[in-house]
Amino acid sequence: TARIIDGRSAAEEIKSSIAIEVSRMKESIGKVPGLAVILVGQRRDSLAYVRNKIMACHEVGFRFSIAELPESCTEDAVCDALSNYNKDASIHGILVQLPLPQKSLEQHFDEGKILNVLSLEKDVDGFHPLNIGNLAIQGREPLFIPCTAKGCIELLLSSDVEIVGKRAVVIGRSNIVGLPTFLLLQRHHATVSIVHAYSENPEIITREADILVAAAGVPNLVRGSWLKPGAVVLDVGINPIVDPESEHGYRLIGDVCFEEAVRIASAVTPVPGGVGPMTVAMLLLNTLEAAKRALCFT
Ligand code: NAD
Repeated sequence: TARIIDGRSAAEEIKSSIAIEVSRMKESIGKVPGLAVILVGQRRDSLAYVRNKIMACHEVGFRFSIAELPESCTEDAVCDALSNYNKDASIHGILVQLPLPQKSLEQHFDEGKILNVLSLEKDVDGFHPLNIGNLAIQGREPLFIPCTAKGCIELLLSSDVEIVGKRAVVIGRSNIVGLPTFLLLQRHHATVSIVHAYSENPEIITREADILVAAAGVPNLVRGSWLKPGAVVLDVGINPIVDPESEHGYRLIGDVCFEEAVRIASAVTPVPGGVGPMTVAMLLLNTLEAAKRALCFT
């Protein structure tokens, strides 16, 4: 059976080393890294993600600030909140919690316009078009790499999984997860394909994968028959499913049918406790980097 890749303990290790860096920074220059989150509306999953980020900041000793805006607010209000944090010297990383709420079919926030306002040096999610662009261009270095993609690669590296020259398949092509993961895997010299909602016979493509990253947001999409024996499987999906037995009436499962995957893969990440905790750890790491750069602290 497959080795279970423990994202939670990998994330704890990273957080401990960040906490040490924060104390060193505080002692020598009297400052700590600061992260700001802009939250529009009250999506239940977004609230849960923001809560996780607040807790993580407290754990490592970061300053945390949040701007909570109502779903009915204007695009300008979001941009104003961003500009304020851009100017705030105690804040080194800023993120807009995505997805932004959809007001109606005709009326929605222009995500691109909002992200463009965000200062490149504080874009710790790595979603600014220039950061994504630099990730795609050979010979250029983005200031920040999107956290989930970076977390996936960190998990592969820390689990001693060979990436160079291997066949990798990413399921999903979102700006947040699929696309940056594709870009980062090819930077690490994998041969990468993307499978998305329009792909015909996706299981034929996934069966070629030495490394499979599932980020479709479809519970149990990836069955055992989709996997090459011995593949390494990273399950990014976080899908709530109804479960009357659990505390809140639902529980979270991934995009990969875990029971089947463990019988065929060589290594697999669980949900929860796999990629999720690593994403938060990478956000902290990006924020620490941003603070070090801004404060010229080495
Ligand atoms: P999204 O809805 O923006 O994108 C989903 C992608 O999957 C699309 O590109 C779509 O074409 C593709 N897709 C949908 N159905 C498919 C199918 N049947 N076959 C193949 N491809 C299909 O979602 P997202 O923001 O990229 O998130 C994906 C999943 O990852 C969600 O479950 C989300 O909750 C989770 N997520 C997890 C983390 C983490 O840290 N673990 C971070 C972000 C998102």
